[in-house]
Amino acid sequence: MIGERSVTVFFDELMLGHNPEVDLPFIPSRVEKRVRAILQNLDFRWSYPEHPGRLAAIKQHLDEHPVAGVQFKSGASATYDQLGRVHTTTYLDHLFSLAGKRAWLDRDTTAVSPDSIEAATAAAGNAIAAVESVVNGDTQSAFALVRPPGHHAEPVRARGFCLLNNVAVAAAHARAKLGCERVLIVDWDAHHGNGTQDIFWADPDVLFFDTHCAAPFYPGTGHLEEVGAGLGEGYTINVPLPETAGDIAFEAAFRDILVPAADYFEPDLVLVSAGFDPHRNDMALNLTYNGFKVITSIVQSIADRHCNGRLALVLEGGYSLTSLAHGVRAVLEVLAGGDVPELMESGMREVTAAAEFHRAAFTDDET
Ligand SMILES: [Zn+2]
Repeated sequence: MIGERSVTVFFDELMLGHNPEVDLPFIPSRVEKRVRAILQNLDFRWSYPEHPGRLAAIKQHLDEHPVAGVQFKSGASATYDQLGRVHTTTYLDHLFSLAGKRAWLDRDTTAVSPDSIEAATAAAGNAIAAVESVVNGDTQSAFALVRPPGHHAEPVRARGFCLLNNVAVAAAHARAKLGCERVLIVDWDAHHGNGTQDIFWADPDVLFFDTHCAAPFYPGTGHLEEVGAGLGEGYTINVPLPETAGDIAFEAAFRDILVPAADYFEPDLVLVSAGFDPHRNDMALNLTYNGFKVITSIVQSIADRHCNGRLALVLEGGYSLTSLAHGVRAVLEVLAGGDVPELMESGMREVTAAAEFHRAAFTDDET
């Protein structure tokens, strides 16, 4: 029942300060064609797709339709040392030197506005706070509603709207300071989490599992054969999917690949890079809200089985404001103990009902 389990959402308005409406218009050539076409249909009035309205839409929806058992908190901003566990000092010094400025950071899709550094350190800090709250037992699960997102950010550079790798900073903090030995990171964003993969590529203590729309979809990495290297070989699991993949494929990927891998790995903390762009109304892939509920429940059962339910989610992408807000709420319902639906291929529920409706018309009812 919803409300049976405690959930804490971490959020801070500081993260709305990242608003790169750079003087240069958003440069279309920096975004691939399919993404450009989809963004045009999303009716956004911002010059930069990863805009403050994303978090505002989620917060407004949750305020208007609260989920029982969910409370809100804010965490402190991440410190230089906490960020330095996954990013180089050269990169961090460069990033911090941009405070108060507007600039494109890279040839990629990433830009900053005057308050972006404050927003980015708040995002990483709230991801840390989410992890601390579940490890300390203050809450059964936590969801850090943060932006800018993080999973494309590499040790040495910003990419794909991401400045700091929030989920990686949180995982590294759990290992360094909270006594966690093995961290499972599940990334269900539509895009491959290239930055997170890079950071933990040779690390056998972080198992990285990523479902995503296959290359050449951005960022073009995440091939099946990318499995980590050195001591970390086998601790990176990529499941590239065609853009038509939906609920049934996701459920199979989670049940048939993630669950046995997690049971073998035995994590003492589970993190999720939770993007909502695999929703059928967003960038790619075909998940429904029920699909999000089922994969949330699978991840939750892994956390229950191996680490006393210690589960923290960190927001990544999601650009359709409706499916972003409703998707987050659907996930929170399951985290709070709500029912998990049975998945069916799209249309099957209707076909079953129609078959029942029409059946009598074509049978003899002489008896
Ligand atoms: Zn994404």
